[in-house]
Amino acid sequence: METNAILVRFAEVFLKGGRRQWFTARLKESLQRQVRAVGDWRVRERHGLFLVVHPQAKGAELPEFTTSPELAAAIGRTFGVVSFSPCRLMTREISALEDLAVRIAESHVAGRSTFKVETSRADKEYPLDSVAINQRLGGLIHMRTGVPARMKDPEVTVHVQILQEGAAVYLDVLPGPGGLPVGTSGRVLLLLSGGIDSPVAGYLMMRRGCVADAIHFEAAPYTTPEARSKVLALASMLAAYEPSLRLHVVPFGALQARLRDGAPGRLLVILYRRFMVRIATRIAQREGLQALVTGDSLGQVASQTIENLSVIEAAAGLPLLRPLLTYDKMEAVALARRIGTYKTSVLPHDDCCSLFVPPHPETAARLDRVLEAEAAFDVEAMVDEPVAATEVIQFGE
Ligand code: ATP
Ligand code: MG
Repeated sequence: METNAILVRFAEVFLKGGRRQWFTARLKESLQRQVRAVGDWRVRERHGLFLVVHPQAKGAELPEFTTSPELAAAIGRTFGVVSFSPCRLMTREISALEDLAVRIAESHVAGRSTFKVETSRADKEYPLDSVAINQRLGGLIHMRTGVPARMKDPEVTVHVQILQEGAAVYLDVLPGPGGLPVGTSGRVLLLLSGGIDSPVAGYLMMRRGCVADAIHFEAAPYTTPEARSKVLALASMLAAYEPSLRLHVVPFGALQARLRDGAPGRLLVILYRRFMVRIATRIAQREGLQALVTGDSLGQVASQTIENLSVIEAAAGLPLLRPLLTYDKMEAVALARRIGTYKTSVLPHDDCCSLFVPPHPETAARLDRVLEAEAAFDVEAMVDEPVAATEVIQFGE
């Protein structure tokens, strides 16, 4: 049966060995979930390829060789997808391919400067080899249009992929997001502020195959409700990649006020952060999450020194991952724009870490001094209270 479909490719290199089936199953699940959310699409697996098809496909649902913006966006959110192509799925008889080549000549090659036909043949039993197919179809297209064939950088490439029981013909190869399928790399807890960096850090971890929850420390009543809606908006953008994402909102203002009243001002940011990672560790362990993730970038601001990052990390009971550690701000901003979080991140908001902080915070903290300052507090109780009062917000499923 002939139909328009989307051919979806994934990175073979990650799929070698015994885990192959498990990886492809995760990828199929997540592709299925993404495309179903935008329409009645199904994912079929054939010859190491995924095809996104309409269940009652008669070729009428999608215009030939294009995709809808919604469907393209859904595939673009599926980590593990390397590239995809809107294709014509058809019988592999040469006469049928020739008929299609004539149509493509008129609709897509006529009036262009150059073209080529590029065939790949998974089934070596096919009576014609790829060079012969290129010549047959290329000759036909040239005859119809007068457009010269060119092997190097042609304006139009007609791709023909001979499959076991048919053929896929396509014109475009569109980039996917890459990475690994969600659910293949463990579970993490993202410390999500309202800033630019942490949503990007979350995206990068999910792209690496992690399932993520997010945690936000809210300095209410010192911060505004707008600060919360901003974080909710960012979390829901991340949930577009992974609908199981939940946001844990921790009341943090009272703890901050207590630290302000009893600890040196210079150390406040570091103490806030140490309590954040303690609380995050507790919640992660309760939820079965294996690591914490922040948007820290080395040296981006005076407080993000190796010394400070080390002293903060010393309070974490789980690995603390920092995917943006080596990113320039410009690079983080570019990625934030690409994934669509930037505009929300730059809305004005109150940052709980600037609360009560003097103009010259510590830039080279020493663990012994920090521990000394913390000795004045009942650390356990200060963790227990906000953990018990944490609110959980679910997105999507
Ligand atoms: P971001 O843009 O993510 O806020 P930043 O460069 O502004 O990052 P900081 O504000 O110093 O850096 O925060 C460093 C990291 O600490 C953040 O990326 C985030 O992971 C975490 N963090 C900071 N404030 C909060 C908060 N209120 N709730 C949760 N995590 C936070
Ligand atoms: Mg910030």
